[in-house]
Amino acid sequence: MIVGIDLGTTNSLIAVFRDGRPQLIPNTLGDFSTPSAVAIDETGKLIVGLAARERAATDPARAAQAFKRWMGTERTVKLGDKAFRAEELSALVLQALKADAEAFLGEPVTEAVITVPAYFNEAQRRATRTAGELAGLKVERLLNEPTAAGLAYGLQDRPDNSTFLVFDLGGGTFDVSVLEYFDGVVEVRASAGDTRLGGEDFAHAIGKLFIERCGALSLADRERLQKDPALWWRAAEQAKRDLSERDTATMGLMLDGRRAELELTRADFETATADLLQRLRRPIERALQDAQLSPSALDEVVLVGGATRMPMVRQMITRLFQRLPLRTIDPDQAIAQGAAVQAGLKARDAALDEVVLTDVMPFSLGVITSQQVGQQRIGDRFSPIIERNTPVPVSRMERYCTVSDNQKVVELDIRQGESPLGSDNLHLGKLDIEVPPLPAGDAAIEVRFTYDANGLLEVDVRDVQGGRTASTLIRNTATEMSEAQIAEALLQLRALKRHPREEEENRYLVERAKRLYEDRLGEQRNAIQAWLSEFEQVLDAQDPRAIRQGRQRLREALDSIDGGFRF
Ligand code: ADP
Ligand code: MG
Repeated sequence: MIVGIDLGTTNSLIAVFRDGRPQLIPNTLGDFSTPSAVAIDETGKLIVGLAARERAATDPARAAQAFKRWMGTERTVKLGDKAFRAEELSALVLQALKADAEAFLGEPVTEAVITVPAYFNEAQRRATRTAGELAGLKVERLLNEPTAAGLAYGLQDRPDNSTFLVFDLGGGTFDVSVLEYFDGVVEVRASAGDTRLGGEDFAHAIGKLFIERCGALSLADRERLQKDPALWWRAAEQAKRDLSERDTATMGLMLDGRRAELELTRADFETATADLLQRLRRPIERALQDAQLSPSALDEVVLVGGATRMPMVRQMITRLFQRLPLRTIDPDQAIAQGAAVQAGLKARDAALDEVVLTDVMPFSLGVITSQQVGQQRIGDRFSPIIERNTPVPVSRMERYCTVSDNQKVVELDIRQGESPLGSDNLHLGKLDIEVPPLPAGDAAIEVRFTYDANGLLEVDVRDVQGGRTASTLIRNTATEMSEAQIAEALLQLRALKRHPREEEENRYLVERAKRLYEDRLGEQRNAIQAWLSEFEQVLDAQDPRAIRQGRQRLREALDSIDGGFRF
């Protein structure tokens, strides 16, 4: 059986094509979405999904999230005493999904279609394949996420030359793609977006409103909340989701045992996020322009990604395109469903072909600089020279100045990525150039980046006053895992201790109780402590019936204090 998997930045899903239609598969908690989160507890045991997301709140040093962002890089994160690459963390999520599918289908699952963003470059695609391999899955095919969304909506059954625009707003990323279907082939004609914009930013805006407006907060409270978004993101997330359903919502937060609340209207929310909504427009225009299509020439506009549940997003799209977008499929399930459709076609040897754009720069390239803000100079700023989505080959030049008097050398730190923080982006190389000693800001250099379709980056730098030059050639390699590294990773993953599957919900409840305990004070804290102790006692007695009942009791008790929200 071939399964279809949406390996998302925030959430992952697995589906299968059965009885002529795609079917989502639930995890051990009964949810279709499994948070893309991994943790290793203090005993060295693995936790994946919602329990790991809870763990991230109480024990961030042992949990990893959003690792899809560094697929195809060498970056690792340490959980406990082991370091993991993005491929390995993704493999752990894939393994959990695979186990869910095997339990659901009652047969081994060894083959998968896995979706990737249309802008993923070769290294990121190979890393995704490696993740599958590490999870014991033969990756039959990588499918572009927008194409998957198109398949879920039946693009393949449309007449030739049909075009879809897929608008995907996830947790932390935004992608717009234009698809064209012709004779059994889906072509991604254009793709644009913003890798630093997603549903989280909207929740963040609610948090900011709360800090500004909530009357119950002291100045010290405000400062604390400003510094530590972990204290309030859940409450903000809940209010955001409530506002998708209703005109008003209350953001409520427990602070040192007191409850602070702010009543919000949808209008407040929309005013506070007008700039975010505005940022969604440019990539749409860009994608249409690149595909040389006018909005009216599109056959359908498709909304996917959990954050398109916000009414303001739907309204903006409706206004912009003068029509209602398609959203009959649950927006966070469409991509997994489409992956299952492709898996179904594959099983009948009728898989659709895809043409992927390879002629645009999939990420931004630039250098680290500093910036003058008032009296202060702030370092570690990323200054892009070639921006993401630029057609290749491309050559661009930027001019920079010295920052200190009589500076003799300018050191260029060349980076790839989308973070405003230079050091967050992938380090590609260094290049130094000598400049004549002059007052700060007077000596200038010109930096030229030239990038070709083979992924070769040439960096040339010229000192404007003295005329000296320097250059370096950077090949975008060495980000892939070698055979030896893969073999070693397989051993490391296999050696990880795991909780038995049937204990996963217990695990989740314990992690959630611990998070709520940290959150609360006084009587509620005592109550949570007592529930936890009781539950641990029940677990120790190892009577399955008693455990089931205890689990039910704990779940209800926790629901009574936090509303039972799961994200
Ligand atoms: P990804 O593709 O990044 O894995 P998803 O498509 O699962 O992400 O989308 C996750 C985002 O969807 C989160 O930011 C979440 O807050 C948002 N989201 C989910 N449900 C709702 C809702 N009812 N209203 C508003 N936003 C929602
Ligand atoms: Mg997604």
